[in-house]
Amino acid sequence: MARVYFASARVKKWKYSDSMAGKLETLLKTINLSEYFEPKEWVALKTHFGSEGAHRIIRPVFLRKIVEAVKAVKAKPFVTDTVRIKGLDYLEVANENGINHLSVGAPVVLADGLYGNDNIMVRAGDILGEIAVASVIHDVPAMVVCTHVKGHIQAGYAGAIKNLAMGGVSGSHRHCGWKCGRGAMHTIGEGKLVWDENKCALCLQCQEICPLEGISFVDNKFDYKDDLCWRCGRCTRVCPENAISLPGGDDENFMKSLAEAAGAVLSTFKPRKVIYVNFLTEIQPECDCMPAAEVPVIQDLGIMISDDLVAIEKASADMLLRQKPLPASLAEDEKVSEGKDILLELHKKPYRIQMEEAERIGLGSSKYEIIHIDE
Ligand code: SF4
Ligand code: SF4
Repeated sequence: MARVYFASARVKKWKYSDSMAGKLETLLKTINLSEYFEPKEWVALKTHFGSEGAHRIIRPVFLRKIVEAVKAVKAKPFVTDTVRIKGLDYLEVANENGINHLSVGAPVVLADGLYGNDNIMVRAGDILGEIAVASVIHDVPAMVVCTHVKGHIQAGYAGAIKNLAMGGVSGSHRHCGWKCGRGAMHTIGEGKLVWDENKCALCLQCQEICPLEGISFVDNKFDYKDDLCWRCGRCTRVCPENAISLPGGDDENFMKSLAEAAGAVLSTFKPRKVIYVNFLTEIQPECDCMPAAEVPVIQDLGIMISDDLVAIEKASADMLLRQKPLPASLAEDEKVSEGKDILLELHKKPYRIQMEEAERIGLGSSKYEIIHIDE
């Protein structure tokens, strides 16, 4: 049975060891990183740098604790993420959100280069075929997958599987473009954006959010650069009128494609070289790539750590099931009642398929035991 170590966010004693930072140190000592990482080995801390305006990411203080723990076993950590907007701008976003060499104590690098197209094609599965895994993540021998657990408009639940899948893969490949990148999960076929003039309020939010500055309005008509577009879906997500759509596959295939892409990323590592840290804190309804962070819908719960991807995801999702929806949040707006699956009620997405498929393709075990380190 897979072990998932857990530390609660609640403070019972007013001392450092009972703080989140102190408990994270204890978690990292408990899992014993020397069993996974060799001296002098490079270790990627894969996180999400967030967006300008989306501040509810994993705080730099926690990344620093993980960096220190990796250094304590004499391995060489660095912090990384794939390019979501133009690379230099994304590094500035990381810096604005407090993630830089000084704050985290290790270099902060882009996993797929300044242009987001430094990647290597890797076999994923029947749905995706091959997918463009970020070259840094492909080549590095060891990794700590640092995940902020939250909701997601398309995935329903966004945890470590999605962090690996969308976050370990580039937006575009040099030769086959978006079709080999994240867009292959977001859409199918030619993935042409469809604009409904009758619904559009000309608010221009889609234009502002496009990471490639690919949207324009000429004579009040929507236009986008089809050859440039990553099919990231950000324009569709921010449109308040549902005036833009991106043809997608069904929910089941999307969830399975996340597991496939996560499997492709993990296939580039030898066994027992990847550790997962899930932060069940600031659980907002949407992704950290959005241009703003909503208030949380579930109270802070704590931090989990495991070497089993499926176990930590199932343990995280199961723990969310037992929580009360927070007042004055989207959960209250949507009248989610106590005892319901809050993220399922909000997004109506069958997110458990991610975990079931990940287990089916051998990425871990859904049979887990939780070990509370602070009880
Ligand atoms: S999907 Fe929309 S936001 Fe994303 S790159 Fe294409 S046009 Fe821009
Ligand atoms: S976000 Fe939607 S409503 Fe606003 S301009 Fe774009 S298509 Fe129109």
